[in-house]
Amino acid sequence: MENEPAEDVAENSGNDWGPIRPKSRKLSIPQHGMRNCIVCGEEQQAAEFPKSITAKCKHLPHVCAEDLQLWVTSELERKGWDRISCPECKEILQHSDVKAHASEKTFDR
Ligand SMILES: [Zn+2]
Ligand SMILES: [Zn+2]
Repeated sequence: MENEPAEDVAENSGNDWGPIRPKSRKLSIPQHGMRNCIVCGEEQQAAEFPKSITAKCKHLPHVCAEDLQLWVTSELERKGWDRISCPECKEILQHSDVKAHASEKTFDR
């Protein structure tokens, strides 16, 4: 079973991705370039998302940088760096992709 992103769980309810830091309240001003994260469900600025998840992804990322880091970190621990796939299209992350998305500390273990 894949670890499915919980879409309609209230923010900050615990899930097994580890602690999610409280997000600032949504701005009520509708803005161009806002995107919904499929993991935390928050609408965020496009700048809060990675440019791409893997070099092979052909889609815009819909997982915010913060959640992507949690994903990569947990996948690293469970599977190792060479078996991490994009949570959206299942492309395998290359070494450089993993390094870009995992925190230095995590990768160094
Ligand atoms: Zn998110
Ligand atoms: Zn992808």
